[in-house]
Amino acid sequence: MKKLSDIGTIKEILGRHGFTFSKSLGQNFLINPSVCPRMAELSGAAQGVGVIEIGPGIGVLTNELCALADKVVAVELDRRLLPVLEETLAEYDNIKVINADVLELDLQKLIEEEFAGMEVVVCANLPYYITSPVIMKLLEDKLPISAVTVMVQKEAARRICAPVGSRESGAVTVSVNYYAKPELLFDVSAGSFMPAPKVDSAVMRLNILDEPPVKTDEKKFFAVVKAAFSQRRKVISNSLSSGLGIGKAEALTILEAAGVPANARAETLSLQAFADIANNI
Ligand code: SAM
Repeated sequence: MKKLSDIGTIKEILGRHGFTFSKSLGQNFLINPSVCPRMAELSGAAQGVGVIEIGPGIGVLTNELCALADKVVAVELDRRLLPVLEETLAEYDNIKVINADVLELDLQKLIEEEFAGMEVVVCANLPYYITSPVIMKLLEDKLPISAVTVMVQKEAARRICAPVGSRESGAVTVSVNYYAKPELLFDVSAGSFMPAPKVDSAVMRLNILDEPPVKTDEKKFFAVVKAAFSQRRKVISNSLSSGLGIGKAEALTILEAAGVPANARAETLSLQAFADIANNI
């Protein structure tokens, strides 16, 4: 198989299949040959491991994953890419391509059917327009997976991997840290893609935790996180009161019982503080 990250090869294959890029599907294909081998290696793909890839495109990362893992299931929404993938992945018999929207797919069922008894990881160069929903689906569905290694916009990766309680943190930082230990792996420049997007990217790995790091009622916990960050410049008593639709006095009582200063800001709070607030509602 010719090198799939080679721009001439990509143009030749796509031209032969009459393929044109869809901006709305976030189609920016990798043309930097050093990225996919590194990403596949760091994802945990190995003998005895099954991999779910989201959005294989023309299969540049898929090839690397197939070479390392026991089995790869790649979920691609754009049916025009199916004949392309059939050609580019022809040398592997451990790949299954599913034509579906990953957000609609029952991943629990997919794992049971395709990866019985195997350790499973996710590895993907995610389409930017669905970065957060895909990550939260993978985490909230409590899938039997050990790690999620994804390329996302650099800003998004920085925010997700920021320490909880730091200025750069946000609702997504706290939410992800409830399920996983995020780790920033490496940056990827905009010029590594065809067509080149406007912003740089980064690869991060979310190492899934066996248990959440705090004991709490999940529904209340996530409602508190959402309310707290919905107006991040406001002090916590005000954002809780408006975000949860409760009176100011009630918000102050909850915060006092939780031992959280009423004038604290969401971005300074620890995971435990959010749990303490939720546990006192
Ligand atoms: N993995 C390839 C690469 O690195 O060159 C392509 C990555 S490209 C950023 C994102 C891919 O996700 C595209 O192939 C696109 O068609 C696919 N895609 C977009 N939305 C999707 C969805 N909802 N479900 C599954 N695949 C999707």
